[in-house]
Amino acid sequence: MTPHWAALMYHATPARHEDADYFAVPAPALARQLTWLRERAIAGRSLEAVLDAGAESHGVAITFDDAHRSNYDVAFPLFAEAGMSATIFVVPAWVGRTGYCTWSQLRELQAGGWSIQSHTQTHPFLSTLDAAAVTRELVDSRREIEDNIGAPVVTLALPNGDWPRRRFRHLLHDSGYRHIATSRWHANGDAERRRGVFGRYTVRRGTMPEAFESMVRQLPGTLSRESLRLSTLSLVRSALGVRRYGALRRYLVERRAAAPAAGMTPPP
Ligand SMILES: [Zn+2]
Repeated sequence: MTPHWAALMYHATPARHEDADYFAVPAPALARQLTWLRERAIAGRSLEAVLDAGAESHGVAITFDDAHRSNYDVAFPLFAEAGMSATIFVVPAWVGRTGYCTWSQLRELQAGGWSIQSHTQTHPFLSTLDAAAVTRELVDSRREIEDNIGAPVVTLALPNGDWPRRRFRHLLHDSGYRHIATSRWHANGDAERRRGVFGRYTVRRGTMPEAFESMVRQLPGTLSRESLRLSTLSLVRSALGVRRYGALRRYLVERRAAAPAAGMTPPP
């Protein structure tokens, strides 16, 4: 059995703490996290590089959802300085919009060793879609990214952590995806590799250094508290239904203030 390894999930990475919403990690915190990894000789790499590396040297997989412009402006130089790379999950319908990366920025990231993968075409709740619509989200995004980047798309990050209905899940594989990145809070080992379905730990503005260390090192204490918070989220989601839940999430994420209720929001 190979040792378990962690995948981390980031969203926006603004330069200043004041510009960081609930799921954002501002530059000073991100820089500290990369320094912490580097000082311990823990390699931060794309999910695909970690999977290709085999059993011996997993390090930690680092992923960014939504392809925020700040990932290019702020995270990319910090990663280059640290000698690290990451996977960025792109929503083609958002590329070039205010606040999001352009294709030419994404090509620069790829040239810098980053892996450019899919987060669906329009970021829907996949469980609300029929088979044809799920297929469009999966296939259109893969093609558009491959056409613009010129490298294979093999991984899908589920938007809002939401799976297609069970009877449509074969469409993920049928549409060319080998790996699924979820928002579930767990480490990855042989079983995840066999299934091609990977857990990720959310790093956010409020992630304290000891929580970050627990994620990377698989220390139980902080992880179980944060995990409890996230299981509360899925209960809230079941109770509200995904549409009302999505509206609540948008409302909370768009508020800049760190209201305690914002602890109830799932990763976008
Ligand atoms: Zn997202």
